[in-house]
Amino acid sequence: METIVQKIRGDALPFSEQEEETLRLAGDIIRRGGLVAFPTETVYGLGGDALNPASSRKIYAAKGRPSDNPLIVHIADREALAQIVRNIPDSAVRLAEAFWPGPLTMILEKADIVPYETTGGLDTVAVRMPSHPAAREFIRRAGGYVAAPSANLSGKPSPTVAKYVVQDMDGRIEMILDGGNVEIGLESTIIDLISYPPMVLRPGYVTVQMLRDVLGDVQEDCTIMRDDSGQAPKAPGMKYRHYAPRGELTIVDGAQEDVVKYINSRLDRFRQQHKKTGVIATGASVQKYRADSCKSVGDRNNEDTVARELYRVLREFDDENVEIIYAESFDTDGIGQAIMNRLLKAAGHRVVYI
Ligand code: AMP
Ligand code: MG
Repeated sequence: METIVQKIRGDALPFSEQEEETLRLAGDIIRRGGLVAFPTETVYGLGGDALNPASSRKIYAAKGRPSDNPLIVHIADREALAQIVRNIPDSAVRLAEAFWPGPLTMILEKADIVPYETTGGLDTVAVRMPSHPAAREFIRRAGGYVAAPSANLSGKPSPTVAKYVVQDMDGRIEMILDGGNVEIGLESTIIDLISYPPMVLRPGYVTVQMLRDVLGDVQEDCTIMRDDSGQAPKAPGMKYRHYAPRGELTIVDGAQEDVVKYINSRLDRFRQQHKKTGVIATGASVQKYRADSCKSVGDRNNEDTVARELYRVLREFDDENVEIIYAESFDTDGIGQAIMNRLLKAAGHRVVYI
């Protein structure tokens, strides 16, 4: 299959004539049962018609993803929710008012028109309304209900730039909308509104504290920051190996000077073994390491920058065939919880405390 790649801007509306044409074509492809990757404010999504079982099956095939791992249904308007969900609770209305459009996914009871292929066999459905203007316009033109997981091959870090969507999906899907760099860089927060009190299944840019400010009592799934290999996480997708670079990644936690000293001593050892090494550091520390490839993920005091850069950096290590990677650790407050959740999964929970 030949994959069409077309540019689309993320911000300034109105769209140009060329962009209108691109969005129309993308929408038609989805309506005909095809797949289109598109930018959102979180990461790139791999979209298909959420109400068409055959489209969902194609998504699993294109990603190489196990079919018990449910997809998130993306909508463009709040009114669309009532079509695909039964018994909308008051909590969902309040969260939608506070955080939609935006990086929050809600788990709700599914209506009959949502096929089990889309929900991985569950009676619940995950729904999100993204804020990215081109994503919303694309969803509208696609019929209003776009099932989309992240647009990466299963197990790889989610794409935050179109280049990595092309790398994983070229030849597997009909079209890729290239919207440049995404804004947030980590997948949406997932909250289960069926359990009481509501439970955060995956941390993201909308933090637990922000959710508590709206809903009061909110729990967190116990597998968010812990090794979940012995547990059954509530979001089926969280049990799979995720976000991982090919190289062996270890997180080192401790006082900055000690971390630098420890990592450099390990790097020297691996260099003697002719292994290619990498380090995930910050702007303030990146000069201090002796790895083959030292990368900054931004500013420790501005975690938005870290969220935005993390997946790109993990992907670049794959491009460079780095075999051994050490990462500094990050605070777990606010969006730091989402950053460390992904980093811990990428590292298979290998952490050295010094
Ligand atoms: P991704 O699309 O790659 O961001 O993955 C979607 C995530 O949402 C996966 O971790 C799924 O397990 C989770 N998810 C989707 N639908 C449901 C649902 N009905 N119940 C619980 N988790 C869900
Ligand atoms: Mg994913």
